[in-house]
Amino acid sequence: MTRALYLEDSYLKECEAVVASVKDGKFVVLDQTVFYPKGGGQPCDTGKIIRGDEVFNVVYVGKFSGEISHEVDHVGLKQGQSVRCALDWDRRYRLMRSHTAAHLFASLLCNGTGALVTGNQLETDKIRFDFSLEQFDPDVLQEYVDKTNQLLSRDVPVKSYELPREEALKIPGVVKMAEAFPPDIPRLRIVELVDLDKQADGGTHVRNLKEVGQIKLLKTENKGKNNRRIYFTLTP
Ligand SMILES: [Zn+2]
Repeated sequence: MTRALYLEDSYLKECEAVVASVKDGKFVVLDQTVFYPKGGGQPCDTGKIIRGDEVFNVVYVGKFSGEISHEVDHVGLKQGQSVRCALDWDRRYRLMRSHTAAHLFASLLCNGTGALVTGNQLETDKIRFDFSLEQFDPDVLQEYVDKTNQLLSRDVPVKSYELPREEALKIPGVVKMAEAFPPDIPRLRIVELVDLDKQADGGTHVRNLKEVGQIKLLKTENKGKNNRRIYFTLTP
């Protein structure tokens, strides 16, 4: 099983690794990795796997049968070889800021209005939220964006830790998604915006709300009670 270094320290930009297996020449499993695999509404990381002076560009990272698989742009890596992993850090850091912003916005909206999150997708240029809510008022959504921004200027640490599943599921609001329940594993990872929110989550986050900056409302869409949508983005 690959050691997922991004869960231990989301600020690691590089690591050494050994190739554990290669499938079809281009799908590489490592003994440890800094690359986040697509999942939980967060896109995968991109970057490079470097062997000596040869660079293999990582174009996709996914989790298949529990293994983190790195798709590289050309064949050549072999089992047992020593490599270095290097993230496209600008992209990852922006996704970390977005992910933390998304948790805060979801927390304020759900607690304040009783909305249920039905979908959520981070992209490098915007954040999309789908939710169900009886009353739909774009002005109210703008209010929640403003409330989010007020808190984003505060010095609030962001922590992550594991709890036994039973204990984790007792935390009010720990699961914000209406349908996607956490995987059936004995311990759940919790991401806590200290004193503001706790969510079960496997993504990468910044260390403090202050690192996020501010968010801006881009667009709202109303496609019926169970299909409200909002897009926002980080500024700048
Ligand atoms: Zn999350």
